[in-house]
Amino acid sequence: MQKCPAPAVRAFRIELPDGRGYWSVVDDEYAKVAVAGRFLFDLRFARDRAESTTRTYAGELARFLAWCTSTGRSLEQGASDLSRFVLALRATPIERAGAGQGRPPGPGRVNHVLSVVREMYKHAVGAGTVDPSVLAALYEVGDDRFLPVELRPEGSGLRYRARPRHRLRSSRSAQPESASQAEWEGLLEAATSWRDRFPLVLLWFCGLRIGEALGLRKEDLHFMDHASALGCSLPGPHLHVVRREDNPNHASAKSRHNRSVPVGTILLAYYDRYAEERLACASANRSDFVFVNLFHAPLGAPMSASAVRQGLRTLSRRAGLARAVHPHMLRHSAGSKMAEAGVAIDVVQELLGHRSITSTQIYVHPSRARMRQAVEAVEALSVKRREQRRKEQG
Ligand SMILES: [Zn+2]
Repeated sequence: MQKCPAPAVRAFRIELPDGRGYWSVVDDEYAKVAVAGRFLFDLRFARDRAESTTRTYAGELARFLAWCTSTGRSLEQGASDLSRFVLALRATPIERAGAGQGRPPGPGRVNHVLSVVREMYKHAVGAGTVDPSVLAALYEVGDDRFLPVELRPEGSGLRYRARPRHRLRSSRSAQPESASQAEWEGLLEAATSWRDRFPLVLLWFCGLRIGEALGLRKEDLHFMDHASALGCSLPGPHLHVVRREDNPNHASAKSRHNRSVPVGTILLAYYDRYAEERLACASANRSDFVFVNLFHAPLGAPMSASAVRQGLRTLSRRAGLARAVHPHMLRHSAGSKMAEAGVAIDVVQELLGHRSITSTQIYVHPSRARMRQAVEAVEALSVKRREQRRKEQG
């Protein structure tokens, strides 16, 4: 039996000698909680997931492992009593600042914690550090043919078909929390600098992740009609979201693929004002980063995500909003607006940089009007083709 870690389990950032980082879970003696640590390390470096993903995962695992510890459960007992953990989770308000702070986590959040916990167990079983029997507590396996991959003999070629036992039904069909037009306009009016307005406009129209925005370098902005002089053949103003490992502000593009995002005239106008404001700060001019400190030390240093979140909270308060707007809510707004504007789902997926199209699907709700348009479009096409055929025959 593997013993659970010592008390005060929490997420902790670890930096490798080459500067790359990942998040792990530590107890109060800073000893790595072995099972979670190995899982998070492999997630980051064997499966090439973003540092920000390991940070989220480490936070979720710390909650679970802290619960195991405080209730005196081993890892195996934790798995078999997972429904008790769900009860504890639903009774514990969210401490972390941001949307939902002070309220118990909703079904979507609970399901996310559970999926991370299951991933950790699967990894541990694969590594041989936890008994495979825990998977039976986590998954409903109707038939031997549908055993999780960790329980199957190698090369059996069967498909993974286990159903998680613990899942909360989500009442709202996982509709993401997005900022409204009124909230966004309120924030823009409350902002006192172009440095604060530009990210509001960038996230709102282009839907970048905050880490992607903060990782932008000046060289990634091709804000001209033709960027051929810069060795880029893409037409029209656009920016490049490039994944880099050496960002000092830990900003990282979550997607493993680089992508380019077209930008419109409103965004360009805001950028011009910001660029002008930035010129007045000598230390800022020496930095390659787009988003830098202009108003407090260290001047010219890349902005951190926590500074942006804090800034948005302050702006929300100043604007008299009923809730604090979080950077991710602006990204969700961009996705919803694209879907509302009838943009095809594969285009939305590419613009937002979603690895899987299921992440994009949350924005798309087929309305009666759009369904009617679709049928009418098919009719119109059919009529057009019939006329073409008549012309050819006649
Ligand atoms: Zn380009």
